[in-house]
Amino acid sequence: MSSAISVTEPIVFRWQPAEIIAIAPVTPWVKSFRLRCDLAHNYRAGQHVDVRLTAEDGYQAQRSYSIASVQDGSGTLELMVEALPDGEVSGWFSLCAEVGDRVELRGPIGGSFSWDGSDGGPLLLAAGGSGVVPLLAMLRRRVQAWPEIPAALIYSVRTRQEAIALPELERLDREGAGFDLHLATTRETGGRRIDAALVAGALLRLGRPEKVFICGSNRFVGAASDLIVAAGIAPGVIRTERFGG
Ligand SMILES: Cc1cc2nc3c(=O)[nH]c(=O)nc-3n(C[C@H](O)[C@H](O)[C@H](O)COP(=O)(O)OP(=O)(O)OC[C@H]3O[C@@H](n4cnc5c(N)ncnc54)[C@H](O)[C@@H]3O)c2cc1C
Repeated sequence: MSSAISVTEPIVFRWQPAEIIAIAPVTPWVKSFRLRCDLAHNYRAGQHVDVRLTAEDGYQAQRSYSIASVQDGSGTLELMVEALPDGEVSGWFSLCAEVGDRVELRGPIGGSFSWDGSDGGPLLLAAGGSGVVPLLAMLRRRVQAWPEIPAALIYSVRTRQEAIALPELERLDREGAGFDLHLATTRETGGRRIDAALVAGALLRLGRPEKVFICGSNRFVGAASDLIVAAGIAPGVIRTERFGG
C-alpha cells in the first residue's frame, strides 16, 4: 500500500504566517502545538521548520523545530517543543503561547533528513529525548502509507514519564506489525544507556537496515552513530540531525 505526497522543489524560504490552533501537554516538559499554515501542504516526514517570534518592540528570535505530524490534508501541522531551563523560544512556547497566537514559519527544511516509503527500508531510527520528534513523523508516515516496511526505534530518554508519544509507540509495538520499540531509560532503577547489546538486539529483529536516522543532542548522536557503525552498518546509509545541547 502506498500513497503519493506532494513536495514542490525548489522550496521557497520565505517567512509565512501560522496560527496556533491547539495546544496539548505531551510530557511534563513537552507540549504539542498544532499550527494552521500554508506549508502544511508541502513537507516530508522528518523535515523541520524555522519558527520566528517577534516581540512588540520588534525584537526577533528564531529556532528550528521538527514537524511531528504527517500531511493529512487538514492544512495544519504539529510541532512538539520541550521547555528548556531559561530557554528563550521554548520558554515562550511552554509558558506564554495560547491558542490564537500567531508566529512565523519558514521551510520545510532538511530534505536529506526525511523519509518516505519509496526511499526504502528496513528503517532503523535512534532518538535521544526530544530528538524523537522527526522520527515519530517517519513512523506516522509508515503507518499512514507504508506499513509493510519493517522499522525499529531505539529511544533513549531519562524516564518513561518524559518519553514523547510513549502510548502511541507502545501501541504500535504491541500490534506487532513490523515495528519494534527499544526503550532505554537512563535515570530509572534498572535503566540503561543505549549500548552495543541494545543495538544488536534491535538489528537482530529488524534485519539489515537500508535507512538509518539518528536524532538528539550532540552527545547522543555521536554515541548512537558510533554504536551503529560498530554493529556493521555502513556509514553511508546513516543520516543524523543534532538538536544542540
Ligand atoms: C533541526 C533542529 C530541529 C529541532 N527540533 C526540535 C523539536 O522538535 N523540539 C524541541 O524541543 N527542540 C528542537 N530543536 C531545538 C530548538 O531549535 C532549540 O534549540 C531549543 O528549543 C532551545 O531553544 P531556546 O530558545 O528555548 O533556548 P536558548 O535560549 O537558545 O538556550 C537556553 C539554554 O539551553 C541550552 N540549549 C539550547 N538548545 C538546546 C538543546 N537542543 N538541548 C539542550 N540544551 C539546549 C543552551 O545552551 C542554553 O543554556 C531542534 C533543533 C534543530 C537544529
